[in-house]
Amino acid sequence: MIQVVVLGATGSIGRSAADVLSANKDKYAVHTLAACNNIDELSRQCDLLSPRQVITASEEKFPGLKQLIGSRASVGCGIEAMTEAVTQPEVDMVLCSIIGTAGIKPVLAALKAGKHVALASKEVLVLAGELVMKAAAGSPGGKIVPVDSEHSGVSQCLAGRRSDEIRKVWLTASGGPFRTWDSERIADATVSEALAHPTWNMGKKITIDSASMMNKALELIEARYLFDLPPEKLDVVINPQSVVHALAELTDGSMIAQMSVPDMRLAIAYGLSYPERLTKPGSTLNLAEMGRLEFFAPDRKKFPSLDFADAALRAGGTLPAVLNAANEVAVERFCAGEIKFSGIWKIVGAVMESVTVEPQESLEQILEADAEARAKAWEVAG
Ligand code: MG
Repeated sequence: MIQVVVLGATGSIGRSAADVLSANKDKYAVHTLAACNNIDELSRQCDLLSPRQVITASEEKFPGLKQLIGSRASVGCGIEAMTEAVTQPEVDMVLCSIIGTAGIKPVLAALKAGKHVALASKEVLVLAGELVMKAAAGSPGGKIVPVDSEHSGVSQCLAGRRSDEIRKVWLTASGGPFRTWDSERIADATVSEALAHPTWNMGKKITIDSASMMNKALELIEARYLFDLPPEKLDVVINPQSVVHALAELTDGSMIAQMSVPDMRLAIAYGLSYPERLTKPGSTLNLAEMGRLEFFAPDRKKFPSLDFADAALRAGGTLPAVLNAANEVAVERFCAGEIKFSGIWKIVGAVMESVTVEPQESLEQILEADAEARAKAWEVAG
């Protein structure tokens, strides 16, 4: 049995992971479930997956969780408890889908302890891509398998290929709900309009990021570190159906695409089973029924997020962390009704221009750059 720790068990990815794990109980045993606030969902998953341990990141929720779980599992609290869980000798694998920067420490610890990390938390690679990939490379057994659908697609397109065969890697984007809108209408879009994603059913922050295409900006940065690709070998193409997740363009002009229905459980299953594959019951992609696949170039004038990504990719160091932090605050301000939708880009652009970029040296230094960018993003006008 493969012993799994799930960090971020109650979010959109965590709940899909619970489906995958409960459907494959012959292969996976859940060692620990960890989340922040949603202790009722933790309790539900405790019944479903019978973990040894349940952890909340919130000190406030700890007594409530203890009472709720009773004798069904041991109960822990805090990021330290998560970091301890992922380094236990009996643990084989860690699925990390914690939102925000809290996943970085446990992921680094898991990699150093030689664990297989199925990674869904974008911030881990966006903020600390160099440190994290170094930790994976320097640890026997430590490896990262991406759970994001595009990166899962890229890893499948690149499987077994040498880097000198690759001309370019394409990430696809749905284009989000504003793909066909003009700039004026996008500028004044409301929160509920931004949350109406055409193809994927995801959490709130990532859905807003999809509408602004900031999600794709973050994914380009992730891909840069994950696959060790220079910025000029990374590009984006819109596939509104969200069926093609990634393409590898080879030096002889061949294009290898990875396709599936837009269902995160597929990428989660591959992240857990890599390099093996699990058997998925039920229907798969029916191309004939679907009829057509469309592709468009992204409109960088309407969606400046991709230009921010280019700047962050080329500068590297702490600039990706700054982009991410400024965007998080800007999305929060947009959701609070404090700024217009176009204000998200204004804030991110202004904060990125105002900082001094430093090379990635330590997690502490990166988190300092993150905090500085957050403070600025609250100050500047959107
Ligand atoms: Mg994605």
